[in-house]
Amino acid sequence: MDGTQILTLGLGLEAPWILKDQHLDTAVSPHRLELYVEAERGSLYPCPECGKACQAHDFADKTWRHLNFFQHHCYLHARVPRTKCPEHGVKRIEVPWARPGSDFTLLFEQAAMSLVKEMPVLAVSRQLEISDKRLWRIVHHYVGRMLGNWTCPMWRLSAWTKPRLGAVIAMSRCSSTCSASRNRLSLPSQAAARMPSRLSAPSWRPMAAHGGDTDNVVEVVCDMSPAFLSGVTEHLPKAEVTVDWFHIVQTFTKRLDEVRKKERREQGHPKSLRWALLKNLDNENLTPKQLAALQELVADQSATADAWVIKEKLRWIQKAPTPRAARWRITNYLKVMQAAVSEKPLLKPMGKALATLERHADAVVRRWHSGLTNARLEGMNGLFQAARSRARGYRNEINFIAMIYLIGSPVGRLFDQAKST
Ligand SMILES: [Zn+2]
Repeated sequence: MDGTQILTLGLGLEAPWILKDQHLDTAVSPHRLELYVEAERGSLYPCPECGKACQAHDFADKTWRHLNFFQHHCYLHARVPRTKCPEHGVKRIEVPWARPGSDFTLLFEQAAMSLVKEMPVLAVSRQLEISDKRLWRIVHHYVGRMLGNWTCPMWRLSAWTKPRLGAVIAMSRCSSTCSASRNRLSLPSQAAARMPSRLSAPSWRPMAAHGGDTDNVVEVVCDMSPAFLSGVTEHLPKAEVTVDWFHIVQTFTKRLDEVRKKERREQGHPKSLRWALLKNLDNENLTPKQLAALQELVADQSATADAWVIKEKLRWIQKAPTPRAARWRITNYLKVMQAAVSEKPLLKPMGKALATLERHADAVVRRWHSGLTNARLEGMNGLFQAARSRARGYRNEINFIAMIYLIGSPVGRLFDQAKST
């Protein structure tokens, strides 16, 4: 077997295509292996419309980037014919190693997509030595094709970038996940959409424009922003509001830090305390120093220790088995903690946190009713965070949305398609 035969086998070329020539260009850096593919003289080609074997009308020279040949870039060159079909006229044929319009072979794109699923896009573009813009173009194509298959056979490039909100019955507002994005992203899943917004503008406005119906929304998961909550009441009349547990804990943690700062000014704490307080007690990452600081704190009976216990005891509520139990625990927790807080002026910030919990108790207890929705949304939240880190350096929202679809959907199917073509 000579070099040409090995390369032909490696490329998976089938009749009428043959590898005509190869050349390693060492004058450029990185070196380029140039492969020249041709069809045998006098070959007939299938009309792209009807498959009828036709003669070539004319040829155009095309080039595709292929998988590296060892450390060298590899390019495939071919003269691609247009067929002259008696019925369909002159048409450019599709080559078996690349999709129409792409400058890369299918194998190259497949490798790129496999990497993009595992690593940040910028890292992949460095690894493959192509610009991230070109890499995003590949990602868009496959994500679009995948989504297009789900909805309309006549898929157009822009179709998938427009959210389809017809099936939205639940919404969630998150400010943390997508704060890097200035525009609002509205992302549908089959039953739930997370509508992140950094703006105070309500997120349900785009719903009508995208086929959604605000009357369908029966579940909203959000933080305790008064503007948002009053917007929900006004615009989503059928929605039950659930305050995300995360935001409750966040409120308490923030107030705890206020207590710590104030007390430190008055009497001083070990340095390691600040981080220890921010971690959970059952978090195994506490350093010995942080653990010692915590123990010292509790022994001191300082206000910070009390505040910390108040925050930690939220867990008792969180672990309630039923909505009824949750309600009972909140009531009793508030009673005990409010009494404790009233005895120490330094604990005033914790009093504010308790008042917040009291004010939103109904919406907090909703969490026990809407557990399923919550779990799904929390899952989506994790997905978004993964997508954001994967799309690091994403230039626009479309890239970010593409990445969410890519890691949140059964993308394996797509590679099977790429292999079979
Ligand atoms: Zn035809």
